[in-house]
Amino acid sequence: MLGSENENEVNELKIRYNEFYTEFGHIYEVSRVLRKFRYLWEEKYWETLFKLYENSMKSLNTQKSDENLPENIVLIKAIENGIQPKKERNDFSISHESFISLYHFFEKVYSLYLGRNLINDDIWALNESDLVERVLGGLDRFDVFRGNLFLDDEFFQLLQKVSWEEEAKDFFVKFHTLLIYFLFENHGKTELTFSKEIINVLVLLSHSSAILSDNFKINIHHVLKSYLTLFRIIQTEFSVFVNKKYYEGYIVCKNCDESYRLLENEAPYDFSRCSCGGDLKYISLP
Ligand SMILES: [Zn+2]
Repeated sequence: MLGSENENEVNELKIRYNEFYTEFGHIYEVSRVLRKFRYLWEEKYWETLFKLYENSMKSLNTQKSDENLPENIVLIKAIENGIQPKKERNDFSISHESFISLYHFFEKVYSLYLGRNLINDDIWALNESDLVERVLGGLDRFDVFRGNLFLDDEFFQLLQKVSWEEEAKDFFVKFHTLLIYFLFENHGKTELTFSKEIINVLVLLSHSSAILSDNFKINIHHVLKSYLTLFRIIQTEFSVFVNKKYYEGYIVCKNCDESYRLLENEAPYDFSRCSCGGDLKYISLP
């Protein structure tokens, strides 16, 4: 019975995929974006990200929030420039949530990269890096971007001037619906909030994409660019970008107890094993 249910689902998936492709497949880069999405799906990147999201939701409910965490600098700049909290549910304009979601998304992808839950030092190293500026200023080429990374007041002002072409909004909604259909069998509350977080990130990236091409209307190509950027973020080589000076602690060998104080440009995961062969653990400074 299970087999036939699966078969039905795969068939439904194929039908939806083909429907979307028939409507939009003629647009340059649509097949490239779909191919990349399917790659990440088949390699279970999305599944893992969703599990990390589920865990972060659970721990949010049980733990008190830690005061010793960095401030969200880009959000502060956004607020200074008049960007408001989200007013309506299905509003695709820029709000506080856009920036918060981008930070949270980065945290999950860093956790995916490290293969473990983040500790405070990880969050500092990530937030004190220039990754958010890089992504908003360089989009899908953020990892090789070498321009001016400084997001000035003008950038935040422009974000609020950008609006959507109707056609692009329609494409955005249909594309996202297709991808969510791929990702989830169930559509509970957690799936819905995860999906919203992804939407917030894509909305922000689409706005950036429009600004960077000197345009105040988001078109389909800007939307596609936002997806390519999202996929690139998922495969980020974080060790190159995070600010390692926030790893101020020691690594200690579980076998011989020898300890080593990390230097400014070193992270715990730069070391795989002690010279005696023992496993290492990281002890952060209190
Ligand atoms: Zn050792």
